Amino acid sequence: MAASIHLAEAGLRVSCIEAEPVDSDPVGESLDWSAPALLKALGLPMEYLLAQGIATYKRHVVLKLMNGSEQHYIPGEWLGKPPYNVDLQTLHVDRAQLNHALRAIFLAKGIRLVSDRVVHVETAGRSVKRVMTAQGERIVAKWYIDASGSNASLLPRIFDLPVYEYGPRKVAMWDYFTVPESIEGTTLHADPCPRYMEWVWQIPIHPNTISVGYVSPGEAVKEKRQRGLSVQEIFETQLQRFPALRGLVHDTAQDTPKQQARTTSFRCRVFARTAGPNWLVAGEAAAMVDPMTSNGVTAALRHAAEASELIIRYRNRKRIPRLPAAMYSQRMLSLARFFNSAIENVLYDSPVRNRIGPFKAGDVYTIPAWSMNLVYSRMRPRGLVATTLFRLLLATLRYSLCAFHWWCSRPQFSSQIATAT
Ligand SMILES: Cc1cc2nc3c(=O)[nH]c(=O)nc-3n(C[C@H](O)[C@H](O)[C@H](O)COP(=O)(O)OP(=O)(O)OC[C@H]3O[C@@H](n4cnc5c(N)ncnc54)[C@H](O)[C@@H]3O)c2cc1C
Repeated sequence: MAASIHLAEAGLRVSCIEAEPVDSDPVGESLDWSAPALLKALGLPMEYLLAQGIATYKRHVVLKLMNGSEQHYIPGEWLGKPPYNVDLQTLHVDRAQLNHALRAIFLAKGIRLVSDRVVHVETAGRSVKRVMTAQGERIVAKWYIDASGSNASLLPRIFDLPVYEYGPRKVAMWDYFTVPESIEGTTLHADPCPRYMEWVWQIPIHPNTISVGYVSPGEAVKEKRQRGLSVQEIFETQLQRFPALRGLVHDTAQDTPKQQARTTSFRCRVFARTAGPNWLVAGEAAAMVDPMTSNGVTAALRHAAEASELIIRYRNRKRIPRLPAAMYSQRMLSLARFFNSAIENVLYDSPVRNRIGPFKAGDVYTIPAWSMNLVYSRMRPRGLVATTLFRLLLATLRYSLCAFHWWCSRPQFSSQIATAT
């Protein structure tokens, strides 16, 4: 929808093919600090979203451990001053309502919404010639953007593009709860165990409604299912482990009939190439970034803006020139690789957490991750020089964190942990 709006505003005739026009359990509720400006560009400024009750303020992130200790991660005040002038607040959103507001803007632009599923893509060499839908419509266009999400990733699969994968396959289960009051921040409840980390998000999407979700490696959920536990039982057992969440399970026990937690599974991955002669890939179809980074919506909106920018700039040519197409791919790739690699090495995997403690590990992740997102938004790298410099910066940080992970994994540290536990 975001890409369609940008293209229609530039005067292009746009069709958007959407397999499920009615949202089924959309996620992506805690937004990064770079998201408000991207939403504003689509006609949804922060003040409007707050006034309409579509969003709540997100001022910070809280990491809360099982023993009740917690650490608050707040963007430094210096970021709010010149020359950065960053708005130090971002948003939590009710995704169903946000999609509804976006759809109203989308329809007002005269974009043709095709409620159908793409089932076949006809190609000629590295170009897309036409797409066919389940109901038999053939759609021919000069340019194509694939925003089909991480389960479909239509064009990367058709063109068999190389992919980088991060961490194990994970399962998320979540539900919504009514609470007397909520805090203006996203809370991550974590069990700082010496193994791979599992965590629970708590996001206030309205002042009295929180979204609570549990993320776990797929294998761990499979093992519990094989022991006969239902998804709801796994979800409730996990919430009961955290003192701050226990009351929620108690509340749901009074609800009759009991609603099952929503569930999805995903694998973090990034495609190495996301642009061709007449096509671009955007959002999770290009890169599935781990939910703990709160970066998926920002990335999708950013891809939509940059992909449309390329089409608008080269609309009178036969193809997107190779260099700008390669730079688009490189920017999407290096940002998503950085986020996925950093969160896996520093927080999910245990060596760094065990060595420096979960709160310091939170700093080691959030300081570079938040800064890189803001630098990207300010610098808006586009050409060869700016994109290369930015890629080098991201690669340096990524390799440094990998090296730190390796250093913390050395046998002497592992044995210290083993002795301590
Ligand atoms: C558990 C979980 C929690 C998350 N939490 C956060 C968070 O807190 N903050 C954040 O920023 N991000 C979060 N994310 C990521 C965020 O949800 C996504 O990155 C964001 O919604 C963008 O998704 P998208 O539009 O690329 O893909 P999707 O939302 O998956 O949309 C893809 C669309 O393509 C359609 N489609 C698929 N195949 C076809 C086809 N063949 N033909 C036609 N249409 C098709 C689908 O119907 C769907 O509407 C989370 C993700 C998960 C899995």
